[in-house]
Amino acid sequence: MMRKCPRKLLAYYLSDKLDVDDQLIFFAHLDDCPECWDEVYNAVKAQHPHYYKTKSRLKISDKEIKQFEHKERAIEVA
Ligand SMILES: [Zn+2]
Repeated sequence: MMRKCPRKLLAYYLSDKLDVDDQLIFFAHLDDCPECWDEVYNAVKAQHPHYYKTKSRLKISDKEIKQFEHKERAIEVA
């Protein structure tokens, strides 16, 4: 599949500067671009190291999980 990664949108997304229209374009791209998805995933992971570390040890509370799920819904809904 031909891919042209919207690097600018990716950078804007990661610095939280993407407007709604561009978010839709970017999320559509994320859907079929594992490379960009990885970048977003790693960036989010870097922002919430505590969450990922704790989750892997299965010591996170339900309340915390809900909080993070809520924050990350914007990415996952794509
Ligand atoms: Zn891409």
